Amino acid sequence: MSAVPLRNNKAAASAVRTVSVLGATGSIGDSTMDLLRAARDRYQVEALTAHTNVQGLAKLAKEFGARFAAVADPARLGELKEALAGTRTECGAGESAIIEAAARPADWVMAAVSGAAGLKPALAAVDRGATVALANKECLVCAGDFFMQRAAKAGACILPADSEHNALFQALGSGNREELVRVIITASGGPFRTWAIADIEQATLAQALKHPNWSMGQKITIDSASMMNKGLEVIEASYLFALTPDEIDVLVHPQSIIHGMVEFSDRSVVAQLGAPDMRTPIAHCLGWPDRIVGPAAKLDLAKIGQLTFEAPAFDRFPALRLAYDALRTGRGATTVYNAANEVAVAAFIGGKIKFGVIARLVEATMDDWIRSGNLAPLTSADDAIAVDHSARNKAATLLPQIALKAT
Ligand code: NAD
Ligand code: MG
Repeated sequence: MSAVPLRNNKAAASAVRTVSVLGATGSIGDSTMDLLRAARDRYQVEALTAHTNVQGLAKLAKEFGARFAAVADPARLGELKEALAGTRTECGAGESAIIEAAARPADWVMAAVSGAAGLKPALAAVDRGATVALANKECLVCAGDFFMQRAAKAGACILPADSEHNALFQALGSGNREELVRVIITASGGPFRTWAIADIEQATLAQALKHPNWSMGQKITIDSASMMNKGLEVIEASYLFALTPDEIDVLVHPQSIIHGMVEFSDRSVVAQLGAPDMRTPIAHCLGWPDRIVGPAAKLDLAKIGQLTFEAPAFDRFPALRLAYDALRTGRGATTVYNAANEVAVAAFIGGKIKFGVIARLVEATMDDWIRSGNLAPLTSADDAIAVDHSARNKAATLLPQIALKAT
């Protein structure tokens, strides 16, 4: 049985839900805390976590009366304790404290740590059979098969929080697996949708950070400009819903109003629409199996006037093609795809490489990985993390020569 509950059996939601937010100080964390703030009487906050932002974490822990607050940086325990002195919030620090936060008995956990660091904490929540709203796409991209198997085995319920996957989750309930023909993930096309390839190659950080529709963290905004984010989402959809690469299409839709669609055998296409606001998919996960009041703007299609669509330009956005390649290759290739991209994006933010080098470095790292005979099924979190680390090292080693070739 899948860990994603595709048929809504409307199990009664308990009156007060205990919730934990992993990555509470980030962009998704912020949206989640906003929703919790709007219905304080319905939620008791169990645990909140952050990477280094102790003051932001302590402020939230005080506001919500959290039972536990954890900061990933072990050197900041003293600072956290001081900031929470006189409260009843227990404090923890280091990776093990983030995992403890996930393991504590909350009914519902938002997994919104960014990057591969989110894998072990998400698994800790999954292993105790919790309901996990999954925003962290790296869990699936780095260790998809294994992650979903472990969730199914533990009886965990995975609720897709990424907007496109949440849309598919809502639409998939309209039919059975055997009736499904394909899913369609929409993409805004990002700030370089209409740019020539030579201009995309030279794009600056400021240009890459100007997303036309969504307001998000820095890393994911750059991934949207390269369409790496859409590549990660194709992989994410494949593991979440057990779909083959051929069952997943990407459609460029600059207005970002339709987030995902599912085509069934009778040629009905069921779509989910909404203003581009992450609080809508998060509210769907928070309320599930019921619906709660969401704060996003009401969708006014008459005002928007036109919804337009384009086929994705695989030639100008090679990151998208590479995602399909990685998915078809399997056996750790998607982990390598993600790890090399994280190295490339950090180098781009640090001003060390041009924008066009991001996808080249990912391709070179994947090629090298496959040529070296490193492909093997991943069967544990440590396996996935080991591949992630080696691929990062490989990408860092290849980076100077790839950057040089591009000049
Ligand atoms: P962000 O950078 O704004 O926030 C990340 C959070 O994780 C912060 O609370 C940070 O303190 C914490 N964190 C970072 N590194 C950590 C580490 N090593 N250990 C422990 N905690 C750490 O990121 P975001 O935009 O909120 O994205 C979070 C996740 O959700 C990512 O996987 C992203 O791909 C996914 N996602 C984000 C959006 C969006 O709109 N922002 C949409 C869909 C999916
Ligand atoms: Mg998305």
